[in-house]
Amino acid sequence: MSAAQDIIREVQAAGGAIVLTESGVKLKSDHGALPDDLVAKARAHKAAIIQALRPKKSRADWGRDEWQTYYDERAAIGEHDGNTTQVDAERLALEDCLSHWLAINPPEPCPPDTCAHCGKPSGEVGSDSVAVLAGRPNEHLWLHHRCYEPFRASRRRDATKSLPELSNQNVVVGIGR
Ligand SMILES: [Zn+2]
Repeated sequence: MSAAQDIIREVQAAGGAIVLTESGVKLKSDHGALPDDLVAKARAHKAAIIQALRPKKSRADWGRDEWQTYYDERAAIGEHDGNTTQVDAERLALEDCLSHWLAINPPEPCPPDTCAHCGKPSGEVGSDSVAVLAGRPNEHLWLHHRCYEPFRASRRRDATKSLPELSNQNVVVGIGR
């Protein structure tokens, strides 16, 4: 648990509350003053507390900063806990971001008799085409066997293009396809 969450709990345990205001945060207490050291601690961690209290944006609304923060966190965790080199940790962090991007940006729905990549009739499922999960619950897309790899590659390009800063950081290791 973060220091900010610890402090929020401590304040609550002391009968107070930390509330978000337009200009920052405010300490409230129904039962007299909060201990000075707790107030001082809350002041020292003000920025982190604001961060912890702010409603989280859903990933679909993430902008550049949120993606960068997520990427940095993944890379740091990978490097420190995963026993990997920095380059590998960053590569894995980018992969993680790309997978998340693909999950929250599912491909456009397409009719079951049409290949999602080339738009031609999908033919016999099994011999001509395969069904792949589209990302939405219970929804499939159909792809010709030969269209599967190009489709995946173009989806990946879309993700890479949508996260240009992250992808550029990894160009050195050849991930920016
Ligand atoms: Zn096709």
